[in-house]
Amino acid sequence: MIITADYHSHTTYSHGKGSIADNARVASEKGLDFLAITDHAARHPFIGVSRKKYDTMRADMQEVQKNYPNLKLLLGIEANILGVEGNLDVTPDDVDRLDIVIAGYHLTSLPYKASDFFKITCSALLRYCFKPTKAQIARQTKMYVNAVKNNKIDVITHPGFRLDVDYRELGKVCADHGTYVELSSRHRTPDERGLEALLSTDCQFVLNSDAHVPANVGECAFAKELAEKYDIPAQRIANIEHKSLVLRSQNK
Ligand SMILES: [Zn+2]
Ligand SMILES: [Zn+2]
Repeated sequence: MIITADYHSHTTYSHGKGSIADNARVASEKGLDFLAITDHAARHPFIGVSRKKYDTMRADMQEVQKNYPNLKLLLGIEANILGVEGNLDVTPDDVDRLDIVIAGYHLTSLPYKASDFFKITCSALLRYCFKPTKAQIARQTKMYVNAVKNNKIDVITHPGFRLDVDYRELGKVCADHGTYVELSSRHRTPDERGLEALLSTDCQFVLNSDAHVPANVGECAFAKELAEKYDIPAQRIANIEHKSLVLRSQNK
């Protein structure tokens, strides 16, 4: 299985270790067709990228792009899913300024509402001590479902990382809205039971590195092993065999 794109990588604009140029160089060396720069969005404390930086990042990326005619760079963001209503820390305007929006749950993200801190953040913290209740899983699932329904999200990142979710419900809503589900090599998610549930729906997948150091760009060993073990049909994976995500930017 040959990976042809990596739609999830971080740079020093958030807390990655390399620049856009560093990530692009590795992606080019590995023969990728597409690389997305997807730093953390604003409500990731201390490291989140303010929308004021988007233009600087775009200019930086366009300079780097000149050196890599065979690699298409995409400017994106990894948005935080922030509460039961599925709010993100990107606006529809931000979405229009970016080539790709991926979104996931991060334990340290700052919800807009105190009630979401209690309903979601505390629930995620309790997971370290107690098995989650059905009510908790239902609430967390609702968060993902609302996020997919109410926002233009290209990829849901590392589902199940830090929070349990009903994967079947997630797969169904992603299939309905053309949102891809990430197999995350960095966080080793979903687990096998989760993948079985996702496979019972019509959702599509993307295999990503979530690289935080340049050397890891395009490194999708865990995701590939999982995809091969479960024999996921090639037509359900967006970044192998010279296929690519159907992105808004590519439709323009
Ligand atoms: Zn993440
Ligand atoms: Zn990430």
